[in-house]
Amino acid sequence: MAKLQDKVALITGAGSGIGRESALRMAEDGAAVMCADRDFAGAETTAGIIQNRGGRAGVLQVDVAVESQVREALDTTVSELGGLDVIFNNAGIGGAGYGWEQTIAVNLTGVYHGLFHGAPFLAARGGGVIINTASVAGLVGLTGRVVADELPEGAGAYVAAKHGVAGLTKQYAVTFGTRGVRVNAIAPGYIVTPMTDPVRELEGGVEYLESLHPLGRLGQPEEIAAAAAFLASDDASFITGVVLPVDGGYTAR
Ligand code: NAP
Repeated sequence: MAKLQDKVALITGAGSGIGRESALRMAEDGAAVMCADRDFAGAETTAGIIQNRGGRAGVLQVDVAVESQVREALDTTVSELGGLDVIFNNAGIGGAGYGWEQTIAVNLTGVYHGLFHGAPFLAARGGGVIINTASVAGLVGLTGRVVADELPEGAGAYVAAKHGVAGLTKQYAVTFGTRGVRVNAIAPGYIVTPMTDPVRELEGGVEYLESLHPLGRLGQPEEIAAAAAFLASDDASFITGVVLPVDGGYTAR
């Protein structure tokens, strides 16, 4: 049996990058997927791919920084797809050009909204799984030219937000463990998605980013999706409160 057969997943940021690949992967593993994004067209494209492959998917326009929209997304997922078992709080923005307020609002408060409303919602339904997208920047500070050249304002906010996501993950895992809700985070290294376009497009940008990862390359969104699908599945039934680096060794040194 497929590992997520009969499960329903709500994924934010599903219109692009890691969120899109995770939606496709979880659907491939048997889940029905609610594709939520502030970019409605992107989410529609993701849902369309799933439907064309014979899977079940819905589309929702959600800004995770707006609490009421996150709350409503839970009910809508149940009414449209018949359940809710997995919440992937993945939507986020890069550091460059956004500044403190917006970065915290989306990358930290947005995840908090998913936990604050999602954890009791899943507990009341008998249990479930929450996954948050943190970052290597949730485990260590960012270094080198990425910070010096490209993220002068945003790096601190991004690192603070992602460290906050790691902390929230642990706290919610502790609080909701006996209520049947597992809560984990993934900490990706640099992944080839639209978010990293600005750095990868700099002269020597790709080579520089590759040099940060002991595996000597960047990650692909499918590799984060595989980790998310694993954490969502019963194969991870005794894993909670973990911030899992999927980073080609970035945080190993
Ligand atoms: P991406 O390709 O830019 O996708 C992010 C998606 O989230 C976009 O569709 C974006 O819409 C959406 N989004 C942004 N703000 C939102 C909001 N307030 N409400 C709902 N949706 C929103 O980026 P990605 O690389 O897949 O990033 C996904 C997550 O991984 C983020 O949390 C990011 O911080 C994290 N991450 C990424 C990397 C990396 O190297 N790519 C590394 C570590 C962690 P718009 O296009 O309208 O902004």
